[in-house]
Amino acid sequence: MSVDTVSLTGWGRTSPTAALRFRPRTYEEAAAVVRGRGPRGVVARGLGRAHGDAAQNAGGSVLDMTALDRIRSVDAVAGTVVCDAGVSLRRLLATLLPLGWFLPVTPATGHVTVGGAIGSDVHGRNHRTAGSFARHVRSLELLTADGEVRTVLPGTDLFGATLGGLGLTGVVLSATLGLRPVTTSLMSVDTARAADLDGVLARLAACGDGTPYAAAWIDLLARGRSTGRGVVTRGEHVPLDALPAHARRTALTFRPGPVPSARALVPEGLLGRAPTALLNELRHRGTPAVRTRQPQRIPAFFHPLDSAPGWSRGRGRAGSVQYQFTVGHGQEETLHRIVRQLTVRRCPAFHAVLKRFGESGPGWLSFPAPGWTLSFGLPAGLPGLARLLDVLDEEVAAAGGRVCLAKDARLRPGLLAAMYPRLPEFRALRGELDPEGAFRSDLSRRLVL
Ligand SMILES: Cc1cc2nc3c(=O)[nH]c(=O)nc-3n(C[C@H](O)[C@H](O)[C@H](O)COP(=O)(O)OP(=O)(O)OC[C@H]3O[C@@H](n4cnc5c(N)ncnc54)[C@H](O)[C@@H]3O)c2cc1C
Repeated sequence: MSVDTVSLTGWGRTSPTAALRFRPRTYEEAAAVVRGRGPRGVVARGLGRAHGDAAQNAGGSVLDMTALDRIRSVDAVAGTVVCDAGVSLRRLLATLLPLGWFLPVTPATGHVTVGGAIGSDVHGRNHRTAGSFARHVRSLELLTADGEVRTVLPGTDLFGATLGGLGLTGVVLSATLGLRPVTTSLMSVDTARAADLDGVLARLAACGDGTPYAAAWIDLLARGRSTGRGVVTRGEHVPLDALPAHARRTALTFRPGPVPSARALVPEGLLGRAPTALLNELRHRGTPAVRTRQPQRIPAFFHPLDSAPGWSRGRGRAGSVQYQFTVGHGQEETLHRIVRQLTVRRCPAFHAVLKRFGESGPGWLSFPAPGWTLSFGLPAGLPGLARLLDVLDEEVAAAGGRVCLAKDARLRPGLLAAMYPRLPEFRALRGELDPEGAFRSDLSRRLVL
């Protein structure tokens, strides 16, 4: 097992802290790290795609799980896969798609481990119909504070605390996941421009169960009557019989884009207010009013940013802060107010995405709840950013909503209980299971989890 001292950040590259990083190659090595942890505790880390400080542990230990990456078995009849927690979703897709199976939930990047997908209980563009990752986890093996391995099943308290539990109940070693069948690796994609936020909301609300995937890009720099304008994208899997005969033999081919590298292809700090406004204008104008049935490969549809190496560095040396919140149906006015606040201040918000969530899942600290969710990034060096986001937190909490902890790097603990009503149960379970606080992270200290 390799061990080194490193400075770690989340994907937003803010708040670096140093930790002792262990990279176990076996479950036994992982258990030895948990048993031999120091006073600052330990937390698991996957591919570091959480934007904030969920997978770092200042002065303590971090278990880098990426060497535990075996796909142990695929049941191609029942549609399940058993794999180590360090396997990336991208690798799973590369293995499963040619067999005619797909992950029922995938976030907007494939460079996420199964352990990270469980720790953050990730959601995709189909939350309305498929729920979050938790709904498809059939069982998992959890290394707990006493160094023992427990099998955790849906319906138990430990499952509720672990799915979305940000690595604070233990280290997920492996999981059994349910899959969804597909007959091609193609999507049929419809796009439609909307002139303002109401237009975007109406188009998203009109998506029924026949449109499993739907999301909208929002231009958060457009003002006046165009405030909240955007492009709504909807998709569904293409069935085999929709392909011409000559294309059917290769229908399940998986062709991913390049792996994002640490080297920036986008010059650092390029995307300030003016370039972002220009890109938004080009994107909005460049989209036809309505376009239907465009074929797209699965990686291009689900993970468009994965083929743009270094894009995140365009937000500047100070890094970026990601903000994602959800508010319930009937709270559209809060959504409007927040969008207006961002546009009036001319915030160079990038990659703003609006989606609809369906029913909540079993995870006690899981983010998705029925209603609307908006996510966007802002340069961390933006003047007045901390105050602005504090105000947004208060608006969201007052509307009965919540912010996403996996993306967060700056929420204050005071609003957490209002946003996450099952927090007391989570704390109580942690108190029993891990009385010495073996599992800790910068986020858990900041939010007193
Ligand atoms: C470009 C981009 C797009 C994204 N799109 C989405 C999206 O559409 N939907 C969405 O929900 N999220 C999205 N995310 C966030 C991302 O999916 C989550 O933060 C995910 O948890 C990252 O997985 P990871 O393997 O990188 O884990 P890390 O970032 O390393 O860790 C995340 C959390 O999981 C815990 N964890 C990791 N491994 C384990 C383990 N083996 N056992 C226990 N706990 C563990 C960590 O302790 C930490 O709390 C996106 C992120 C990026 C960068």
